[in-house]
Amino acid sequence: MSVAGEPAFERARELWAGARRAVAFTGAGISAESGIPTYRDAEDSLWSQVDPCKLADIGEFLRDPVPYWRFFQDVRYRAIHTAQPNPGHRALAALDREGRLDAVLTQNIDGLHQAAGSREVVELHGNTRTIGCLQCGQSWSMDEVYAMLRRHLPPPCPACGGRLKPKVVFFGEALPEEALARAADWVRGCDLLLAIGSSLSVYPAALLPLEARAHGAALVIVNRTPTPVDERADAVLHAAAGDALPRLARALGVAGE
Ligand code: NAD
Repeated sequence: MSVAGEPAFERARELWAGARRAVAFTGAGISAESGIPTYRDAEDSLWSQVDPCKLADIGEFLRDPVPYWRFFQDVRYRAIHTAQPNPGHRALAALDREGRLDAVLTQNIDGLHQAAGSREVVELHGNTRTIGCLQCGQSWSMDEVYAMLRRHLPPPCPACGGRLKPKVVFFGEALPEEALARAADWVRGCDLLLAIGSSLSVYPAALLPLEARAHGAALVIVNRTPTPVDERADAVLHAAAGDALPRLARALGVAGE
């Protein structure tokens, strides 16, 4: 594990101290310490309970949405509903308040960066707290839909009876253009990109850190385990985000995570 005083930690601190525009790119790992399982971590993965290729595949969902809604009812709702920002989310929000972090580009769909107070959050895969009707376009909260699930599986749109779908990007769907364009602007304009808690293996989002690198930004990776991009990074901290980020913030003189 990388800790304060070790070369990788000092390098990361030095790069951040000298950065004019720093951007964080986050994945499921930053929310693991809030109790939301990542998809790929072997021991507690959501994917060990269900098959992601089926459950969150748009073709499968349109063919038969019941398995997805069962998963939403039994696993997903409780995990997202009860989760609170952890010290990693709070450190990023504190760094934002102190002018040390300009944006968070996230693959996460849990809304925890906004709950922690980060102001510029680009959600590349949408947000599961809002559920839309594929027919009439009306939106409902996840609480409203969870209540409906007690009576209807799958839940029909209360306004038109149409099919509901969480406003998240399923496998087989394109990323929202507006979010992708905003993220591309940030990665091209930053001089430091921190890739935090992402396996850097879900595309096209995982290309963003490499695009930042190609545009001259320094790359710092914070992850409990190695990633395929580690050898191209300027510093790699093999540590939990909830530990490494508050330490980095303190080393930059930012308290109050
Ligand atoms: P991933 O599951 O592929 O990888 C998670 C990574 O986080 C792993 O490399 C793991 O080693 C690391 N990790 C685990 N705990 C950590 C910790 N405490 N600190 C630092 N690193 C830690 O996740 P991904 O790269 O985000 O891509 C998968 C997809 O998962 C995305 O599309 C995302 O939408 C979705 N997802 C989101 C949530 C969420 O919103 N919280 C949860 C599960 C999956």
